[in-house]
Amino acid sequence: MQSLWNEQEAALFQGDLGLRVYTSRLLGRDKSLVLHGGGNTSVKVRARNLVGDEEHLLYVKGSGWDLEFIEEAGFSPVRMAHLLKLAQLKALSDPQMVNELVTSLTRASAPAPSVETILHALLPHKYVDHTHADAVLSITNTVDGPKRIAEIYGNQAVVIPYVMPGFDLARLCAELFPVQAGPQTTGMVLLNHGIFSFGATARESYERMIHLVDLAERYLAGKKAWHLASATTSVPASSQRIEIATLRREVSKCAALPMIMATHQNARATAFARRPDLARITQQGPATPDHVIRTKRLPMLGRDVAGYAPAYGEYFKQQASMAKEPKTMLDAAPRVVLDRDLGMCTVGRSVKDAAIVADLYHRTMDVIERATLLGGYQALPAKDIFDVEYWDLEQAKLRKAGAAPLFAGEVAIVTGAASGIGAACVAALLKRGAAVVGLDIAPGIAGQHKRADFLGIQCDVTSISGITDALETAVRTYGGLDILILNAGVFPGGATIATLDDKSWRTVMNINLDANLALLRECYPLLKLAPNGGRIAAIGSRNVAAPGPGAAAYSASKAALTQIARVAALEWGADNIRINILHPDAVFDTALWSADVLAERAAHYGISVENYKKRNVLKTEITSRDVGELAAEMCGPLFAKTTGAQVPIDGGSERTI
Ligand code: ZN
Repeated sequence: MQSLWNEQEAALFQGDLGLRVYTSRLLGRDKSLVLHGGGNTSVKVRARNLVGDEEHLLYVKGSGWDLEFIEEAGFSPVRMAHLLKLAQLKALSDPQMVNELVTSLTRASAPAPSVETILHALLPHKYVDHTHADAVLSITNTVDGPKRIAEIYGNQAVVIPYVMPGFDLARLCAELFPVQAGPQTTGMVLLNHGIFSFGATARESYERMIHLVDLAERYLAGKKAWHLASATTSVPASSQRIEIATLRREVSKCAALPMIMATHQNARATAFARRPDLARITQQGPATPDHVIRTKRLPMLGRDVAGYAPAYGEYFKQQASMAKEPKTMLDAAPRVVLDRDLGMCTVGRSVKDAAIVADLYHRTMDVIERATLLGGYQALPAKDIFDVEYWDLEQAKLRKAGAAPLFAGEVAIVTGAASGIGAACVAALLKRGAAVVGLDIAPGIAGQHKRADFLGIQCDVTSISGITDALETAVRTYGGLDILILNAGVFPGGATIATLDDKSWRTVMNINLDANLALLRECYPLLKLAPNGGRIAAIGSRNVAAPGPGAAAYSASKAALTQIARVAALEWGADNIRINILHPDAVFDTALWSADVLAERAAHYGISVENYKKRNVLKTEITSRDVGELAAEMCGPLFAKTTGAQVPIDGGSERTI
């Protein structure tokens, strides 16, 4: 491990806090030191307050900031004097501690200080750096961990037995640090947790961290336990979507909420999931205080899988206080499922959470494998897991947190998603918290939204392999299917029956009817596995009830689609799948309606374009957005008890009312 300190870069940062920002970012750049908000840093400064009194302040990393991208605003200024008095208390509950920390801030807008704030205050050095370095975790999570740490560091580091982060840990450090620390001491190892370094300057503290971690890495390398063999396992390409969606349903059942589940079949994850000793090495307890492991019997899959929950990682601790949504960390669902055939499946209430779990577990695999090479992985005893689960700070945060978005943890597919009503459905579903898979024949669909909860797949829905490939990808990415919006369709130029050729008729029927039948058939087994029941919205047309001349193929295709949807409502009600139909009319902000066509139609009726757009009972304009919003709501609780219904969205039609 090398120091990343660079004089030119450092010169861009001014003052004690500026340099604190700089070296914090250096730590954050190395993912083997800190990941996703893990780790924290601080600096102690003296400053004059508004009334001229000098105050001793601890600037400590605040909640919700990642070291890699931290700025001065990400450090919370806390009054040292009060922190040092708190450290003298015999006991302090976590909610009390949070209250004391927040009320000791000197800037009202500062983020909540880290749960390790008191510990930072206690260490008698200006700069303090703390990481969860892989190498230190690999060594401390073994049977002989404490002995090995003593061998590596001697009097360079104070060693603290494992205690949950929070007041009790600070208290223990307050007791042990003065007794153990000597002139050679540059750091402090927290067994099964991480490592601290400290110094008089930002650079000294940072480079001591690098040096201490480097010693651990060299020790591992000397024991042939640092470099891991690169995995070369190939991944089976067979269809696994039903198996994956079944597993996701089981996991969601454990959580009592729908969950996103991402399947990772990279060589690294697959090789790990296929280790013959997997059950033994993954069921010993958490690899770090951030992680809780469980084993779960999943009867529907017919086999045991190793489950893993990064239950109360510092990431979640810090995010939970900021987030509007409760982190559902008290549920019994595993957050990682390892399976020989499926590889690594990571679970979260959102796509982002599932991705964080994947990052954390990729690192945990390294820690476990290195500790195993070192002579045997051994994590914390079960009691600590209990402590983690019932940590009152977490519970308080859960109570405080607000309601989840309507479709949190759910997955939707929209066809014809690149433009018009389809694009509006995608937007409406994303807004309501769903992960959305957009299918469209237009290649631009792939880049339509650059966000992790949207997956655009170029797909010709008239091709059965196109549909099944897309479903396979969708389920591997998000875990299953809850909502299907059948929107893709074409409206060819007017042709009377007398002039309608077979080819045009077939094209319309292929896209508007046959493709939807195939989609319904292929999605059915997945929708049946939706934790809260499957929902389908089919985009019909006002033409079904009130056809117009020159649109035989279009009107017939939409009428037949409506009829198929009604039959599906009858056939699938027992599977808790509901399907409803929207009949939009005069939605002019779609690709079908150019300004020229609009002007031509308006002229045909001898009215203005404006009036032509509002040619309905309510004299209102209907937009794609209106239709997308209604389609999303028809998949929500408002329509929970409605199936097989047809809802017009046309401003009122004199021909159908
Ligand atoms: Zn920590």
